[in-house]
Amino acid sequence: MSDREAFGPVLDEAVVLAGRWLDGTREGRIPPTVGIEQVKDALGRELPDRGPAPTDVLRRMAEAIEPGLMRIGSPRFHGWVMGGTQPVALGADWLVAAWDQNGGLRSVTPGVVAAEELAGAWLLDLLGLPGTADVGFVTGATVATLVGLIAARDEVLRRAGWDPQERGIAGGPAIRFLVGAERHGSVDSAGLVAGLGRGRVVAVDDQGRMRPDALREALAEGSGPAVVCLQAGNIHSGAFDPLGELIGIAHDAGAWAHVDGAFGLWAAAAPRLRALTTGLEHADSWATDAHKTLSIPYDCGIAVVADPDALHRAVAQHAAYLASSADVADPADRVLELSRRARGVPVYAALAQLGREGASELVQGLADGAAMIADGIRTIPGAEVLNDVVYTQVCAAFGSDERTRAVGQALLADGVALASPSSWRGQAVLRFSVSNWLTDSAEAERTVEAVRRAVASVD
Ligand SMILES: *Cc1c(COP(=O)(O)O)cnc(C)c1O
Repeated sequence: MSDREAFGPVLDEAVVLAGRWLDGTREGRIPPTVGIEQVKDALGRELPDRGPAPTDVLRRMAEAIEPGLMRIGSPRFHGWVMGGTQPVALGADWLVAAWDQNGGLRSVTPGVVAAEELAGAWLLDLLGLPGTADVGFVTGATVATLVGLIAARDEVLRRAGWDPQERGIAGGPAIRFLVGAERHGSVDSAGLVAGLGRGRVVAVDDQGRMRPDALREALAEGSGPAVVCLQAGNIHSGAFDPLGELIGIAHDAGAWAHVDGAFGLWAAAAPRLRALTTGLEHADSWATDAHKTLSIPYDCGIAVVADPDALHRAVAQHAAYLASSADVADPADRVLELSRRARGVPVYAALAQLGREGASELVQGLADGAAMIADGIRTIPGAEVLNDVVYTQVCAAFGSDERTRAVGQALLADGVALASPSSWRGQAVLRFSVSNWLTDSAEAERTVEAVRRAVASVD
């Protein structure tokens, strides 16, 4: 059997099955119709002695699994903060799988490393970050923040006269870790894994932005090494910490400033939104996602560290070698993984197609969609938008907590649009995140109509 004969029919089948699924992107019902146990029953729970042909495995999988899929790619999917997939990025992702390159080493897989390095440089440019910063491709913003915090931890220890590479971190100076009261939960995980603990909580304002006076006070409480984690894009309000001012305060106290900008960092790519990120470029490290705003397939997060040496010392496999030669760092010297898929290649493809203007329009379109949804919800009697809608997030309440939850249930049952039930500032809310490249004004209007139906059904 030729190579083409071995792979061709299986890939052709995958194209047919994927095409059928993707055909329902706009009009398919959004929530899954079956649960995990039903899917397991449909898949078959027993490991077979020997299975059917590859094409049969794919067909059976699609049949059993698809009823359990969430249509995250729908233009009216506004749950959590989850992006869809642009066709060019999906196509690139398939090529990445077919090429099956191990993306960790420059000399081994130059083709994909070249595309990733270009994507990294383009990202720095679009997001207004220093061109000398180092970029690593990781699974998501959680790990991107972990990479940033590890670099931060080691650097602030080193500046305090403790060499974490030689001595480890146990027994070294205590590190103060400061986080905003409305940080994303993943910051807690990253802080725990990095050995910084949960962090001292700094007060925020009514939109969830860290208060400069509170940060100044918190830093003045102690002394010694410190790491401050700021936020660009609050999942409830979409608000941005006043980054320039906070980074200045952190630096005045000798602290490292990291920015969690999983979806918010992209505001810098849109001229009308860029002011939200003023001062962003002065931070020491940044975390963002490509699988949210940029709409490429899971999983792709981006870790950026301003001082490449600090990053390499903290995570590189060959840090000593790097320090003593003019050699260029390998992809594996910028993140925690050695062997990994070339997950930056779909980022290259998406940016190559969008260009600077397309990227700006993509991000601006999300913010415009959120503004339209907010405007529409405000016209529904009894509905209230609780946040200042500055970016992609809308938090709405519909009277009592009980009624808001009932509207959320009705919206889910309706299946045409989906929002996350949550609570913000002590109140039940329905949270609408506009994170999908397909959400235009017509789709935003359909979301509002679905909310209107849901409200009518609970009255
Ligand atoms: C989604 C999100 C994260 C976590 O990103 P993952 O890609 O899921 O790891 C962190 N911070 C914010 C603000 C987010 O929205």
